Amino acid sequence: MLVADDEPHIGRIIQTKLELGPFRVTLVYDGGEALRALEQYPDIELVLLDLMMPVKTGLEVLAAMRADARWATLPCVILTAAGQDQRFDEAMRLGAADFMTKPFSPKRLLARVMELTGAAGSTPE
Ligand SMILES: [Mg+2]
Repeated sequence: MLVADDEPHIGRIIQTKLELGPFRVTLVYDGGEALRALEQYPDIELVLLDLMMPVKTGLEVLAAMRADARWATLPCVILTAAGQDQRFDEAMRLGAADFMTKPFSPKRLLARVMELTGAAGSTPE
């Protein structure tokens, strides 16, 4: 699991929640680091991308992924701050699996991530 968000506390909240579930999380802070992490860790099974990040936005990272055969179908969830919902259509056109507006419930995020990865076990309460 790769999480890219330029706000470290948000990345840590997501990492903590997902690691209480069955996931190991690599946390990075900009879009350039996100693409380098994909190169470095070929077994990443899902990517969570903040929309507004330095170097490359979440949508730019997603577009780069979709243009590369290695990551063309890798599930990706776009995370946004409130007020950026107008990018929803663009995210879906680029093949995002989901679009979540902050602040979101970490519990709901974990449930969605488990669905998208087909993780075994019951959905957490
Ligand atoms: Mg951001």
